[in-house]
Amino acid sequence: MNPSPMILVGARKVFFETFGCQMNVLDTELMIGALQVAGYEVTAHLDDADLIVYNTCSVRLQAENKVMSRLGQIRSLKAARPDLVIAVVGCMAQKDGAALKKSAPHVDLVVGPGEIDHLPSLVRRVESRSDESLVATEFKPVQFQRDVTLRPSRYQAYVSVIRGCDVYCTFCIVPYTRGREVSRRPEQITEEVRRLAEDGCREVTLLGQTVDHYGKEFRREGVHLGTLLESVSGIDGIERVRFVTSHPKYLSDDILRSVGDIEEVCEYLHMPVQSGSDRVLRSMRRRYDTGQYLERVARARELVPNVRIASDFIVGFPGETEEDFLKTADLMERVEFSQAFIFKYSPRPGTPAADMEDDVPLEEKKRRNQHLLKLQDRFQRKRNESMRGEVVEVLVEGVSRRDPAKWTGRTRGNEIVVFDRVEKNSSIEGSRVQLRIVDSTALTLFGEALS
Ligand code: SF4
Repeated sequence: MNPSPMILVGARKVFFETFGCQMNVLDTELMIGALQVAGYEVTAHLDDADLIVYNTCSVRLQAENKVMSRLGQIRSLKAARPDLVIAVVGCMAQKDGAALKKSAPHVDLVVGPGEIDHLPSLVRRVESRSDESLVATEFKPVQFQRDVTLRPSRYQAYVSVIRGCDVYCTFCIVPYTRGREVSRRPEQITEEVRRLAEDGCREVTLLGQTVDHYGKEFRREGVHLGTLLESVSGIDGIERVRFVTSHPKYLSDDILRSVGDIEEVCEYLHMPVQSGSDRVLRSMRRRYDTGQYLERVARARELVPNVRIASDFIVGFPGETEEDFLKTADLMERVEFSQAFIFKYSPRPGTPAADMEDDVPLEEKKRRNQHLLKLQDRFQRKRNESMRGEVVEVLVEGVSRRDPAKWTGRTRGNEIVVFDRVEKNSSIEGSRVQLRIVDSTALTLFGEALS
């Protein structure tokens, strides 16, 4: 699994910090793989690093502020060790490009998401001083030769199936930082999953900003997310398949039928609604109304028994009135989501919404945020409580971080379950176990093993 010790003798060290979504987590994994092949070893300590990489996110201002603060903190490191290479990669690098170098001149490399597969050669150019500093922000199809043995979890892996986005919601920076939507060929994906399975991976999560729009380029060949789910699920060794994130407009009955019919595909949908007001949805340019969204929810519940549906919400979007907000709370009550990720709106420069008046005061955004959080907490408690006595299948992810005397794992519906480690010396990590739910909180289920 690790590169040979020969390579590691005197290896240069890289420190990574990742911000944002699962795509970034996967991109970091791929970059680490490429850098290890180039002779780098990962360190958890900034002080040891020869190369520091921040894989950034631009979706919210807060994430960008964190990166700027990290860059401020390492300014003195660079001053003390001019050979240290500092790279800012990902969405913020794409969005700010050369401007980022102006505000943080000690940064050597600024690399957009379309160029991350060239990171090792870009670093070499800076190290050899053939280029003092570089800004690489072209949109190119990323072509990683993934080394499947290099991944953080032995039993689970993310697999990118579609990059970029063509929806252009008015609040979102992603289409400008990740480029147009491009699907990978199905055979490339199944080959990657086959190699992951041969290396012991049991669960794969297929990733895309609009994953349910997968295969637009190959429709004539009859390819869509449903057919991809079928091929991936048929690979020996793969026991569970997930996919995120679904756009309500693209979540077809064909896809839902595949989720319902294919045993390996987990009954979990992450399908963000963002708002319960049609007026706000139009202003966000989400391309559906609440009626259409609720119809998709009803259809999902009909075709996929026991399905869990998670959503994202934005509160305080420009022009959101109290009446609009109450419609969002009402939609939340009607659907009872299994998970909700609730965000206070903040304008992202370069998006159409940034030109609208950000007219909901911060205090009001906070109040609306709290209101939805409380609602969600109530639903989750109620649902988790109702699961008491139920038998669930869990894929064991490892020892609980909070209590080393317990295992932790996930249900097919993505709920976290904690249970006692009966035989402490034998590992059941990566196996599927049957548990009876005996207790719960809003966020966690507690189970006991049946065998
Ligand atoms: S669907 Fe909308 S919110 Fe999602 S990535 Fe695309 S533009 Fe952004």
